Amino acid sequence: MRYDVIVIGAGIVGTSIAWHLQKNNAQVLLLDKKCPGEETSYGNAGIITREAVNTKPFPRSFKEISRVLPNKSADIRYRWSAIYRLQRPLLQYWIHSSPKNVEEIDDEWATLIQHCTDEHEPMIRASGADELVSKIGWIELHCKSSSFEKSINKAVKAADKGVEYQVLSLAELQALEPNVNFTDYVGGIHWKNSWQIKNPGSLVKAYAKNFEAMAGEIKQSTVKNMIQTEEGWQVITDSGTYLCQNLVIAAGPWSADLIKPLGYKIPLFPMRGYHQHFKSTDQNAFSHSLFDVDKGFVMGTMDQGVRITTGAEMALLDDPKDFNQLETVLTFAKKVLPLDAAVESEAWCGTRPCMPDMKPVIGPASKHDNLWFSFGHAHQGLTLGPVTGRLIEEMIHGKPLFIDAQPFSSKRFDSNL
Ligand SMILES: Cc1cc2nc3c(=O)[nH]c(=O)nc-3n(C[C@H](O)[C@H](O)[C@H](O)COP(=O)(O)OP(=O)(O)OC[C@H]3O[C@@H](n4cnc5c(N)ncnc54)[C@H](O)[C@@H]3O)c2cc1C
Repeated sequence: MRYDVIVIGAGIVGTSIAWHLQKNNAQVLLLDKKCPGEETSYGNAGIITREAVNTKPFPRSFKEISRVLPNKSADIRYRWSAIYRLQRPLLQYWIHSSPKNVEEIDDEWATLIQHCTDEHEPMIRASGADELVSKIGWIELHCKSSSFEKSINKAVKAADKGVEYQVLSLAELQALEPNVNFTDYVGGIHWKNSWQIKNPGSLVKAYAKNFEAMAGEIKQSTVKNMIQTEEGWQVITDSGTYLCQNLVIAAGPWSADLIKPLGYKIPLFPMRGYHQHFKSTDQNAFSHSLFDVDKGFVMGTMDQGVRITTGAEMALLDDPKDFNQLETVLTFAKKVLPLDAAVESEAWCGTRPCMPDMKPVIGPASKHDNLWFSFGHAHQGLTLGPVTGRLIEEMIHGKPLFIDAQPFSSKRFDSNL
């Protein structure tokens, strides 16, 4: 059988693309080495971040760099081997993080974020996934008055881009979340129109099930090679060869390695994160996900228990797990909430697929017809999967695009080819 489109990668991004294409009358095959939503899209903090209209630049001030350099901070850790191997994309990341560049990038980035909840909504409804979604927003917590004031100023500006927020005093925090110990904090910001997902992996599975209900096909196969012929694309996997007209690469942090043999050098780099679940009890019950900005960790109530999610570790994709950062974070989290019994014997880790200019790659490949790239959503892939899915469907079907996708084109890396 020859498919109209094969999508490689059934994380939130690939599944959303497959869903949009199938809904618009394409015959789609979704390929993944695992079942849908079992890699990065499983283990994230589960927030659909409508508030994230600003990107996350590389720390550039002397104060910030000297804080991170001793490699002991809770929010960012690194391995020298990763810094050495990733020196080129990291240098590019640093350059793109100048205040002037960030201003421009943020404006482009916000065009994606502004549609995030609107684009999840029809997929949630069609998939019957409403019970996985809580629309009460989440709360950012601050230990330092200086960082709190900076965030309030950002929130005021973000309101121009449709972000709804409320600044919370300690008393207001305590009233909202009576089981949480806020003594280390000075206040918080409630991001009111962001959403929480209580099981991101299950959300992807629900979208995938709805894709199958529309006669989309899913196969569990590892892609080994992709060859373009006069008849279209041949996708060679460990369970056979599949043919299609259009091929979409949505393999998250694995995408750059997958397309390297086709002659593309895209500076995608990994940024790792860990999570650990703790048994939910009456004493640690809370409703809003909580993000400690200064220590970079998120606490959220999930199907599996209380999920504590770490910030960033610069580590290579296949590096062994190192639980030091998670352990540091857990000492802080345990002051905030009673966390006794860990649910799993070993913590989860996964990799954010990051780009040096902080923008995902969404669009046609520059050297092959009917090849489409869709990866690099970094800290916001759960948020942006459906927006990306709609864009790729519109591109493949030659429709007018609902967002200007030029800033996300892979052509910006053509000088690397
Ligand atoms: C700790 C942490 C917290 C986060 N918190 C949030 C959050 O709160 N909100 C948010 O929006 N985002 C968050 N993110 C980011 C988000 O999880 C990612 O951006 C998103 O999951 C990326 O989705 P993806 O579909 O691109 O990649 P993935 O989910 O990794 O999917 C890629 C798929 O490709 C498959 N694949 C790879 N190679 C092959 C091959 N050769 N053959 C077949 N299949 C292949 C993999 O098996 C995988 O299923 C967080 C990330 C982390 C790590």
